[in-house]
Amino acid sequence: MSWDIVGHEWAIDILQRSIAGGRAAHAYLLSGPAGIGKSRLALRLAQALNCDAGGPAPCLVCRTCKRIERGNHPDVRLAGMASQTANLKPEEAARQKDLKIDTVRDWLADIHLRPYEARRRVFILHDAERLTEAASNAMLKTLEEPPPYATLILVAHTSGELLPTIVSRCQPLKLRPLARTVVADALRERLNLTEADAALLAAWSGGRIGWAIHMVENPDELEARQNQLDDLIAMQAQPRTSGFRWAEERAKEYRAGEQAVVFEALALWQSWWRDVLMVAAGCPDQVVHIDRRDDVEQAARRYRLAEIQGFVARLNDTVRQLRENVNPQLALENALLHLPGG
Ligand SMILES: [Zn+2]
Repeated sequence: MSWDIVGHEWAIDILQRSIAGGRAAHAYLLSGPAGIGKSRLALRLAQALNCDAGGPAPCLVCRTCKRIERGNHPDVRLAGMASQTANLKPEEAARQKDLKIDTVRDWLADIHLRPYEARRRVFILHDAERLTEAASNAMLKTLEEPPPYATLILVAHTSGELLPTIVSRCQPLKLRPLARTVVADALRERLNLTEADAALLAAWSGGRIGWAIHMVENPDELEARQNQLDDLIAMQAQPRTSGFRWAEERAKEYRAGEQAVVFEALALWQSWWRDVLMVAAGCPDQVVHIDRRDDVEQAARRYRLAEIQGFVARLNDTVRQLRENVNPQLALENALLHLPGG
């Protein structure tokens, strides 16, 4: 297959068959965790629908495929949080949480025009899980009955947060995390990583190839992540006051518009305690932080299973509370009060 995508063969198979049979849907919903390959699949679908070689797979070398890849084909229209916040200062952009009705209207403004050059006009909307109700409703009619030459592709981290009326009008393709070995093989073959490095990144990635590639290309971020994990692990042996200081700093970041940074820290913390839980529950091969097995095993021996389970659940609650706009400092301090050993 020439789609140049790691994994997700079943989804590519469905798309190829429907294109070959002239039965491509007029609207798709690609969902799955961040960094799993949704955006790339959306782009490949736009290419497959318009490739000069006729499809059903994109050739990736013709003029049309290349222009779509570079993002400058007039018949492929992209929108999402990035386009909505393109003209804002970073801190203003970070504060925006929802995809607004104006963004959707701009995105679809000229959908009734015929294709300029390609066979089909393709409209790709990223971050669709952030659509407001008004913005969702603004596209319902178009989603139901787009012009015959238009294809809409919604890309979302989770389909659960979309209005059912949106979901029911799209063909859903739910992408799942890839197997660890698939990610590791791809990292070795595509990026020339050593076997050990590939195995480590694949374990950390949780099956998200895009995340792993991003980390290979941004070693500073990877190092920062390691340091952050060191601090989080150290917290269970430190007096509670230092934990509260940590909560205060994260709350400050959160209020300054750096919500994503705080959610990432919580996800990292969660992943470590989930490892402890896995070892305590007798499933050591599920461990993600394979480079810290000793720490994980030590913690699994030190704390009671119920305590560990309770804290993993507590971190889930904290994430949910933050999304529900609970005071961030209170939410984080409350989590700390349940930290085993704290
Ligand atoms: Zn092509």
